[in-house]
Amino acid sequence: MAYNKIEEYVGNNDVSGKKILVRVDFNVPMQNGQISDDTRLRAALPTIELLSKKGAKTILLSHFGRPKGKVEPSMSLEPIAHALAKLLGKNVGFAADLKGEIAKSAIDKMQNGDIIILENSRFYAGEEKNDAELAKEVAALGDIYVNDAFSAAHRAHVTTEGVAQFLPSFAGLSMARELDHLNQALGTPIRPVLAIVGGAKVSSKIDLLENLVTKVDYLAIGGGMANTFLAADGVDVGKSLCEKDLLDKANEIKAAADKAGCKILLPVDVVNSKEFAPNPPTRTCKPNETAADEMILDAGPQTIANLAAIMEQAKTIIWNGPLGAFETPPFDIATVEAAKTAGALAKAGRLVAVAGGGDTVSALNHAGASSDFTFISTAGGAFLEWMEGKELPGVKALEAK
Ligand code: AMP
Repeated sequence: MAYNKIEEYVGNNDVSGKKILVRVDFNVPMQNGQISDDTRLRAALPTIELLSKKGAKTILLSHFGRPKGKVEPSMSLEPIAHALAKLLGKNVGFAADLKGEIAKSAIDKMQNGDIIILENSRFYAGEEKNDAELAKEVAALGDIYVNDAFSAAHRAHVTTEGVAQFLPSFAGLSMARELDHLNQALGTPIRPVLAIVGGAKVSSKIDLLENLVTKVDYLAIGGGMANTFLAADGVDVGKSLCEKDLLDKANEIKAAADKAGCKILLPVDVVNSKEFAPNPPTRTCKPNETAADEMILDAGPQTIANLAAIMEQAKTIIWNGPLGAFETPPFDIATVEAAKTAGALAKAGRLVAVAGGGDTVSALNHAGASSDFTFISTAGGAFLEWMEGKELPGVKALEAK
């Protein structure tokens, strides 16, 4: 899908003095009133710096927390304005409303190159309802709309979708970078493509698996969800995490994979324990040798070696979810080893490796492999919906018409 990019637009057009509404995701984690992880602020810097340098008036829009349509002072974006100013080394203004006189007069006072944040969009109930009136009022504050928040693009809200209906709309630099990499991994990938999907449950990833089997050449299933697939093959998985009500669904997914020519790879050996605790006694065996009182908590060395051999042939890897209970040692080994192999191949330029989804990011950080991957999405829900093959409303709104 082709979409408009702000970087190209400012390269060909004078934006000095233009009021540019930029949707960012400043929903950062806080602990005791302090930002505990400023990744999302940093992600927005390239777009903000570019627009400011070109003399535009940059007006930032974001949600923060879940105030449910009411003004909730503890969820104000004002402290974020201070944190952003520090990162930019430049003053960042703040208007205590998303629209109306307060927003208008603050914007009227802006000089070319200035940056301002408008108050939490979710203080208005219309935001999450994608209310057209609210969208019109917010759009009236600017000349151009930029969305730089891929992580919020799976939602059709006023600031992610509605405003785009009233203004020329573009992808910010972070959004464009994310879309380009995701497209490289699953849109028009170089084959063979290997998808690695792990994590706890099949139930949360049915749509994702159904989409992937139609798109990739190999699908390696790991983690707790592999147990459900093994059980569907008639393997007794003992006390392992297993969704017995999804055995038919697992068989349907296997049949769909066969039909589409996608090879599903399940663990051929597993690491078991009677206790789910750090460093308990463990036993490595074939899945069907699992005892009635054991749990499968990680993939074994033969499975890791088989996966590495497929990675050697692959040109693209797309990864979501850990291959074992990686937070509890030693059940992190399969995830760590596979992440290191994928990272090393990506770093050597042998393949494209893209990963994403909440636990995946922490698992790859734990493996020390994150910086070697081609791209890691921190988008969570939006990344998963994209892996499910869904159209994201916030991205569709940026489509080149
Ligand atoms: P998800 O959020 O679905 O990606 O699941 C991630 C969680 O799955 C992590 O907390 C892992 O500890 C857990 N997990 C992975 N493999 C297993 C397993 N074999 N048994 C129990 N939990 C697992």
